[in-house]
Amino acid sequence: MTRRAIVIGGGPAGIKAAHDLVKSGAEVTLLESAPVLGGLASAFDVQGVRIERYYHFICKGDDHLVETLDELGLSHKLHWRDSRMAYFVDGRLYPFLTPVELLMFRALPLHDRIRAGAAVKLAQRMREEDLAPLKATAWLRRMFGERSYRVIWEPLMRFKFSEHADEVSAAWIWARMVRLSRSRTSPWREDLGYIEGGSATVIEALGEDFRRRGGRIVLNARVEQIRIQGGRATGVRVGGETLPADAVISTVTTSRFRALAQGLDGAYMRALERIPTIGIFCLFLRLREQVTPFFWVNAHDARVPFAGMIEYTNLNPLPELGGDHVLYVPQYLSADDPRYAQTDEEVLRAYTDALALINPAFDRRWVTFSAVFRDRYAQPVCLTDYRTTTPSIQTPVPNLFLTDSCQLHPHDRTISGSFGLGIDAARRAEAALAARTAPTRAPEAEAR
Ligand SMILES: Cc1cc2nc3c(=O)[nH]c(=O)nc-3n(C[C@H](O)[C@H](O)[C@H](O)COP(=O)(O)OP(=O)(O)OC[C@H]3O[C@@H](n4cnc5c(N)ncnc54)[C@H](O)[C@@H]3O)c2cc1C
Repeated sequence: MTRRAIVIGGGPAGIKAAHDLVKSGAEVTLLESAPVLGGLASAFDVQGVRIERYYHFICKGDDHLVETLDELGLSHKLHWRDSRMAYFVDGRLYPFLTPVELLMFRALPLHDRIRAGAAVKLAQRMREEDLAPLKATAWLRRMFGERSYRVIWEPLMRFKFSEHADEVSAAWIWARMVRLSRSRTSPWREDLGYIEGGSATVIEALGEDFRRRGGRIVLNARVEQIRIQGGRATGVRVGGETLPADAVISTVTTSRFRALAQGLDGAYMRALERIPTIGIFCLFLRLREQVTPFFWVNAHDARVPFAGMIEYTNLNPLPELGGDHVLYVPQYLSADDPRYAQTDEEVLRAYTDALALINPAFDRRWVTFSAVFRDRYAQPVCLTDYRTTTPSIQTPVPNLFLTDSCQLHPHDRTISGSFGLGIDAARRAEAALAARTAPTRAPEAEAR
């Protein structure tokens, strides 16, 4: 008896779930609305070179990703590199990684710098459950002091959560500190990882292996509805047709899931409604020259219209670009922010004007290619009650499963984390399929 599973969404969670399910012997169809796999981790064509739409770095402890590379024979494509970060504060660029750099950070008085160093160490020893109910902004102010909060943390909170910054749990920022601290090989060094060829290397290899094992990938296939009949998911509607299934895994963001599973109601759906999600727009630049030697620069300067920029080639040298550089300037926004309406040209002009403040030698003629990407659902907000309200992968329908990055809270969303969610969803779907196909015992067997 065939065991048909449908996975909705071909981002990291979906492709990983589909790959695990097909290995268990299920008949799996993966439906992805975009023309390529990868979701937020997908790549696009930059003058003949495939590069990620958004920057991705890897930290020590991203185990599901490291194990997947290993399973696919791609471990040699993972590289670790000493990374550098800086703050641009009121017209000056300060390196900001090592204890000495922190001590030299003249944007703050000396006692604030010393307090900041001690606060990071103290925070790392705190426990998630104690921090979960606290608000990050209040906690950071208390730990670091008002001035340090304004200069160091406010730009990050504003950058990541826009107007939701005041709702975020202190455990989220704590988990971020802990994640990055795992990548510290010494007080002087932070090793971040990248994959040769970008995240597409692992996503596409998973896709190829999935197909080789008999899985079916349908691109440009936007699922319109998850069909729920008699308390079970019976399939999905896509392109006006119904595709039957014995188990369905959705990996689309919670608000999209709510629209797809309209028959579902109750506490589970209300929990999904409560989680705010913010979107992103991100300027991608290919440049002839390097803007700074830093991988990551946080900005705190009234003239700069963004809170951070990532000079990706300072981590992954991308030799295929023949010495050119790649810079991402992201901006997280709520889904209905009017700034989404800015044209690419307006974004390019405003942001490149600011680059000239960060590096006065910057010349717009350095830009050989630019693009602006927009995704209205890019990051769930980790609220203070996430420990009791996060929806589980198991929905109220026994053979319908949902993954969303909010299930990683208090940890930030990562490819590795999404792989973990995909593995978990596949395991549950396998059990549901097995329960469906388990032979019912004959009456005489019962009697014996
Ligand atoms: C700017 C930015 C920077 C990031 N940096 C890092 C980083 O440095 N390191 C790291 O590990 N992670 C990073 N991430 C996070 C990482 O990209 C995500 O965690 C990961 O892509 C989430 O995977 P997912 O499968 O859960 O969701 P998604 O990637 O969102 O995939 C969902 C998929 O579902 C598809 N879909 C939606 N609706 C439908 C429908 N109706 N029918 C069919 N398909 C549908 C979408 O097209 C998409 O492909 C970053 C993300 C962003 C935006």
